[in-house]
Amino acid sequence: MPEHFFDLVVRNARVVTAADVFSCDIGIRDGRIAALGTDLPPGARDIDAAGRYVTPGGVDAHCHLDQPHAAPIRMADDFDTGTRSAVCGGTTTVIPFAAQQKGQSLRAAVDDYHRRAGDKAHIDYSFHLIVSDPTPTVLHEELPALIAEGYTSFKIYMTYDDLKLDDGQILDVLEVARQRGAMAMVHAENADCIDWLTQRLEAAGRTAPRFHAHARPMLVEREATHRAISLSQLVDVPILIVHVSGKDAVEQIRWARGLGLKIYAETCPQYLFLTAEDLGTEGEHAYLGAKCVCSPPPRDKSNQDVIWNGLADGLFTVFSSDHAPYRFEGEDGKHPGGEAVAFRHIPNGIPGLETRMPLLWSEGVLAGRLTPQKFVELTATNPAKAYGLHPRKGTIAVGSDADLVIWDERELTLTNSHLHHAVDYTPYEGMQLSAWPAITLARGRVAWDAAGFHASPGRGQFLTCGEPTLAPRRA
Ligand SMILES: [Zn+2]
Repeated sequence: MPEHFFDLVVRNARVVTAADVFSCDIGIRDGRIAALGTDLPPGARDIDAAGRYVTPGGVDAHCHLDQPHAAPIRMADDFDTGTRSAVCGGTTTVIPFAAQQKGQSLRAAVDDYHRRAGDKAHIDYSFHLIVSDPTPTVLHEELPALIAEGYTSFKIYMTYDDLKLDDGQILDVLEVARQRGAMAMVHAENADCIDWLTQRLEAAGRTAPRFHAHARPMLVEREATHRAISLSQLVDVPILIVHVSGKDAVEQIRWARGLGLKIYAETCPQYLFLTAEDLGTEGEHAYLGAKCVCSPPPRDKSNQDVIWNGLADGLFTVFSSDHAPYRFEGEDGKHPGGEAVAFRHIPNGIPGLETRMPLLWSEGVLAGRLTPQKFVELTATNPAKAYGLHPRKGTIAVGSDADLVIWDERELTLTNSHLHHAVDYTPYEGMQLSAWPAITLARGRVAWDAAGFHASPGRGQFLTCGEPTLAPRRA
């Protein structure tokens, strides 16, 4: 009998789950939650949460790390810096993307991505697949085999030349999702409309970063969202629409829900905290707008309100970062060689893995827009359910992994020098926040606390995923 049954006890926690808020001690043994109770015996180590909120560690189900790119563009974060920044901001599980390139086998993409993760990850991770070339071999052999092995979700793009599928291909892939019980994520924007608008903007000399938003107005997202819903209805399979940016797409999703369709939706911090004005002004500083170029682009204040309402009322299922770690300066980033490039050539995406949880706790929960339970549902429980990781991940329950955030309520000014990613800026520079994780536990180990980040490269385990459990399995 060891001297202490528990390796660690978190005392006086104000525990938040997707359902409840209650006070208790959390007993941790072998990286898992072994007991929730009062007056638990001392552990080998005790941490006094002193009545502070304790939430499940975040599950960031949409983040891009070390994804291969055509030179010179390169992602700054690999599994080391990416998972490091995640855990410092309270996220303890990431699901980045093993992306198939056209002509490549899906299996080869997965093998390559395992090599990239290797012994670098500080926290647990699993992979979504990106299907960009649904050949008969992919549809009938590789994809079914990979789903059976625990890669139970994949992303479909309706835009970007090197990734997009046409409607027939999307139907083929959705059919596999239906047959095998996988979750399909859809990036919904109309590629032809974007191309057409981009050509006209360029012909008129309108190439500054802010015209990125003009090339991708909300109607191109609305149309693609409607089309994705229709394709999912035809195949009779749930889908999850990623990074929904505003009212027009939200209306399509509400309409589909009203019909009883299982259309899930995701949104991201950029649609709450940025607007199209952040894509820059006219004149000599126009190039700075490249920092906020992402797709769909941020909209306006009234659309931010629509997104907040959707988070509060259940329209949105998950809240993810869509972390896409491109540097601003340098040859591999958004402002290569100090030259302003036409918006078409600016890599799409912004960093946000470390700031996702503190931004939503601060501006959602502490500002009175969301309950603590809704925060947990959106940032941890639902993403774990959507991608087959629940209840191991995403909740505080006996038997679940001891992935926990103890929150510290304090005023701070967000600045990139405090962050742990390899990106040279944050789009949220200067924002006032009122909370940050005091301590993050990843499978029972303190990975972040007042002393800073405690590295453990290679400790992160690859997680195979089960079937999505957001809804009961089809009869
Ligand atoms: Zn996307």
